[in-house]
Amino acid sequence: MSITVTLPDGNSLELADGATGADAAAAIGPGLARAALAVELVGGGEPNAETVAVARHELGVRDLARPLPDGAAIAIVTKGSGQAALELMRHDAAHVLATAVMELYPGVKISIGPAIENGFYYDFEFPDGVSISEADFAAIEEHMRVHIKSAEPFERVDIPVAQARERFVTEGQDYKVELIDDLVSAADSHTPLETVSLYTNGPFTDLCRGPHAPSTASVGAFKLQSVAGAYWRGDSTRTMLTRIYGTAFFSKQELQEHLERLEQALARDHRKLGRELGLFFFSDLSPGSPFWTPAGMVIWNGLTELWRAENRKRGYREVSTPILYDAELWKQSGHWEKYRDNMYFTEVEERPMGLKPMNCPAHIQIYKEQRRSYRELPIRYSEAGLVHRHEPSGVLHGLLRVRHITQDDAHIFCTEEQVQSEVVECLRFGFAIYELFGFPVRLELSTRPDQRIGSEELWDRAEGALEGALRSEGLEFELNPGDGAFYGPKIDLHMTDSIGRSWQLGTVQLDYSMPERFDLKYTGADNAEHRPVMIHRALLGSFERFIGILIEHYAGELPLWLAPVQAIVLTVSERVRAYAESVSDELLQRGIRAELDERDESIGRKVREAELRKIPFMLVIGGREAEQGTVAVREHGSRRDDQERSGAQASGEAAEALTIDQFVARVLDAGGAVPVGRPSQAPDGHEV
Ligand SMILES: [Zn+2]
Ligand SMILES: [Zn+2]
Repeated sequence: MSITVTLPDGNSLELADGATGADAAAAIGPGLARAALAVELVGGGEPNAETVAVARHELGVRDLARPLPDGAAIAIVTKGSGQAALELMRHDAAHVLATAVMELYPGVKISIGPAIENGFYYDFEFPDGVSISEADFAAIEEHMRVHIKSAEPFERVDIPVAQARERFVTEGQDYKVELIDDLVSAADSHTPLETVSLYTNGPFTDLCRGPHAPSTASVGAFKLQSVAGAYWRGDSTRTMLTRIYGTAFFSKQELQEHLERLEQALARDHRKLGRELGLFFFSDLSPGSPFWTPAGMVIWNGLTELWRAENRKRGYREVSTPILYDAELWKQSGHWEKYRDNMYFTEVEERPMGLKPMNCPAHIQIYKEQRRSYRELPIRYSEAGLVHRHEPSGVLHGLLRVRHITQDDAHIFCTEEQVQSEVVECLRFGFAIYELFGFPVRLELSTRPDQRIGSEELWDRAEGALEGALRSEGLEFELNPGDGAFYGPKIDLHMTDSIGRSWQLGTVQLDYSMPERFDLKYTGADNAEHRPVMIHRALLGSFERFIGILIEHYAGELPLWLAPVQAIVLTVSERVRAYAESVSDELLQRGIRAELDERDESIGRKVREAELRKIPFMLVIGGREAEQGTVAVREHGSRRDDQERSGAQASGEAAEALTIDQFVARVLDAGGAVPVGRPSQAPDGHEV
């Protein structure tokens, strides 16, 4: 008897019955056998006389030591396998962490220890009187290193549930006992749970589904990072456990780079900078909803001006709609059924009403207000639309995760024939906007989710249309199955910021369902009634989140056109006050956001403070400037768009003397005005 498996290159491999992932790797070559960490089942053959299709639940990464099902399509996981390999290894590292902690702290209780996005953690209950801090990390890491060096194999056993339970009862591992009891009660009554899997490495045994690498030697460069309290099962009525976070990479260099990025991100945290620069704040009086200060509103208004002009240029017409609606509207739109948990409801004169979580049903009302002809299409409505979405307080995060969201929203109503070109135009619009901020863009196509409205046929059409638009432009994209909106598939626009983090900003969503639900129509050239198609799109995402991202991207040194104060006039002495006031007034008159610092402080101190506020231009006014009618210009120490000049400034060279006219020209030259109507480049280099 033998089995056949398919490899990523399409070749098939014949192996003895019962062959494992390790056998498959060895059959391919000795190098791969050494490098193999696990095996991934990526699919199964079509069932026929010889092969049985691999069950869906068997897909995924599994131990090298487990037998392979006949007909499986497999890929050997090595260090080079990207995220799958990192996750596997970080889970290994979590077990090694628990191994070390149990050695160092007898009596500690273990709970769970998964890999997470950028590392891993393990939750412990330390014995009474023992508390852990970062000061203990060195000793724990030292023990971890010993276990990694000894390359202890991860050995899996599948044992009867009762036996596993007894073992953990004897060991006093209450959390493991509870986990087993939960697994038993969650199991289907038709197929009760018979066995559970345990993994042992060296002295440590854990209840664990796996998979794991062959041994602890897989764990590369690692570091323990922090300690936090975490309720058992996230339930605030249960015990508060101690969570130790760590991260691990296959190489020292990758770990180093990651730690450096974290440090940079910390220095750029928009919540910290927002406070220091006085841009916005949050209050417990309205959780998840920012209060914008006058300085913050300068940024907001600059973006709004850009948004409005760019939309107008592309044939969008601005609308404004209410935020509170009769619940009946949300029933008709499907939000009641699919999105209610994210919405806020109230009662007004005994009518149940809900705050809009999306602007679409509102724009639909404007479309429906009149009879529509094919001659009017496409109709493009834009709105800086204020929506509210419930986010649990635990996940609120500065401007990046709020409940009060102002979307740069738009809805396009068009004919079926116009869909592709409208989608293409939306993408180009996005590219033009991101280019202004120097963001490289990455596209993802997300298809039908489990929770959805609309027939399969509509979904087929909508997904086909979006893919067609991407292909027609020759744009590269990643497929993200199951992540579409409940009413339609979408193309998401992701960008990468200056420290390499990826953010989803824009979205272009195609929708055949809402027009059905709201019975939207237009009269065609044939005089008959037709159904328009709806495109939902936002490019910045929301003004709140976009500003948060910009602050981090620029580390608070916003482009000149968004800087709350563009120039600060600094007096050297009391005698030049009148002239300084006239300079600051004139700048304001000429549209430059100027401020005057005429305090009785040393000029050195005034410059330092202006530097801390990251004000792009400092205009020093002394006796000579007052006499000659000039200003002495200093630029902010590290302005990124002006590296050369600022380099000279930072090294202490004398400030430059300019007349007011020259200075105003300099500001405009350096991009001091909202960049509307600037030609911009699509990623392929064509002008759009
Ligand atoms: Zn585990
Ligand atoms: Zn919408």
